[in-house]
Amino acid sequence: MKTKIAVANGDGIGPEIMDAVLNIFKAANVQLEYDFVEMGKSYFDAGHSTGMTEQAKATIENLGILFKGPMETPKGKGVKSINVTARKVWNTYANQRDFRTLNGVDTVFSKAGMDINLTIIRENIEDTYGGIEHMLTNDVAVGRRIITRPGSAQVIRYAFEMAKRKGLKKLACGHKANIMKLTDGMFLEIFYQIAKEYPQIEVSDIIVDDLCMKLVSRPEMFEAIVLTNLQGDIVSDLCAGLVGGLGFAPSANIGDNISIFEAVHGTAPDIAGRGIANPTALLLSGISMLRFLGLTENAATIENSLLYTLEQGVHTGDFGDRSTQSVNTQGFADAIIANLGKVPANGSVVAQPNFETRKPVTRPAQNKITDTNPDITKEIQGVDIFVETTLQPAEIAEVAKSKLNDKFKLVMISNRGTQVWPTGSIFTELVNQSRIRYEKTDGTTLTPRDVFAIAAELSDSIRVCSTELLTIFDGKPGYSLAQGQ
Ligand code: NAD
Repeated sequence: MKTKIAVANGDGIGPEIMDAVLNIFKAANVQLEYDFVEMGKSYFDAGHSTGMTEQAKATIENLGILFKGPMETPKGKGVKSINVTARKVWNTYANQRDFRTLNGVDTVFSKAGMDINLTIIRENIEDTYGGIEHMLTNDVAVGRRIITRPGSAQVIRYAFEMAKRKGLKKLACGHKANIMKLTDGMFLEIFYQIAKEYPQIEVSDIIVDDLCMKLVSRPEMFEAIVLTNLQGDIVSDLCAGLVGGLGFAPSANIGDNISIFEAVHGTAPDIAGRGIANPTALLLSGISMLRFLGLTENAATIENSLLYTLEQGVHTGDFGDRSTQSVNTQGFADAIIANLGKVPANGSVVAQPNFETRKPVTRPAQNKITDTNPDITKEIQGVDIFVETTLQPAEIAEVAKSKLNDKFKLVMISNRGTQVWPTGSIFTELVNQSRIRYEKTDGTTLTPRDVFAIAAELSDSIRVCSTELLTIFDGKPGYSLAQGQ
């Protein structure tokens, strides 16, 4: 019986490259059935706020697999990217991108005889991609970076399972925990916790800036790297550059129920409609989808043919030897079809599953909620109150002190995260928003009401923009100190 998947052609070059890839699948006798779904810019324009019809949503949620072309995000209409929304609402928590040197695709490294074979696993749902941003004052914009224990554990476990399945020896965690001690610190802590369950895999961690430097100077140091969302986004584009650019970068968005396979690149509006786009990235994404679906023979046959074709010097206009004639999108697909059954001289693949086989969709009765430690003790230690003001630090302190009662003491005032009171430097430049930190006095037990009461008192004298509780979880502070505190 044929497996049925949802296919969205996408916008711009999407339909051209999808057509080429499905033609290759057909010629390779891939036993898949396609349900084409209505999704993309034209559906936004037709008034579907999510960029897809209800029918498309139902089909994707039933089938669990979406193979999609790139989709345009309409500019300046207040709509969120359909690509990011799809990944988030369907909980495709792991973004896997495999980067390898391809014969016929010249790069600095291939010319130096250095083969690259790297996998980046990027957390796909959390971090700054929540898009939770606020203007606290006209001059100060703040974005929330959300890192959670369940979300981190899900993607990190996926990375270890992937490394095990592929027989990799090493997995690294990229992070910036030296600066972001609670967010990246938690991601790193969970990485080492889960690592204990995989003693056969050598683990390490590396600060993301050092990682970027090492990837461009010694990429052979790494086999697979797991990162949070934004850092993973940047590092994976860097890796795409190592192997020849976005035209060769596939991507799999894996979830427990729904998974999405797509190219990393966008709709290439500058060349859309001309039939000259390079279908390789979408084809590589399709090949990883075939493996995911257990169609490993098909995957190996098509991958070998692609590698053979590239080795022969066949190329679209965006890469390859400029002194030889390029082919168009369908010409490239036709060359791959003609080469089915051939294997490249270098780097041929065998039909081994290196992807997890798909799990069937199980439709939950309610949204799944995870709370990893509902019984943890929580003690309110104080509050950070963010205020709009152009007063000097000592003047803000006077206002803040005038609101004190016996439950609170004034601990610190900071501006852009740098302490300016009780001590600070006259050279610290200030903006029109400061943070006032009150902590509880000895022997006091604070309630949320106490905290909101002092914020309300303060708001009589100064514009309060935001408040944040300072909480101690099982004896550990759940908040950071100011620079200089
Ligand atoms: P882009 O990736 O579409 O194009 C960047 C450059 O790379 C262009 O010069 C383009 O011609 C070239 N290029 C990209 N893919 C190519 C291919 N297969 N063959 C040959 N050349 C190729 O990036 P952009 O211009 O920043 O974005 C255009 C649109 O795509 C935007 O609306 C953006 O939101 C959307 N986008 C969608 C996705 C997705 O669907 N996952 C990803 C990125 C961007």
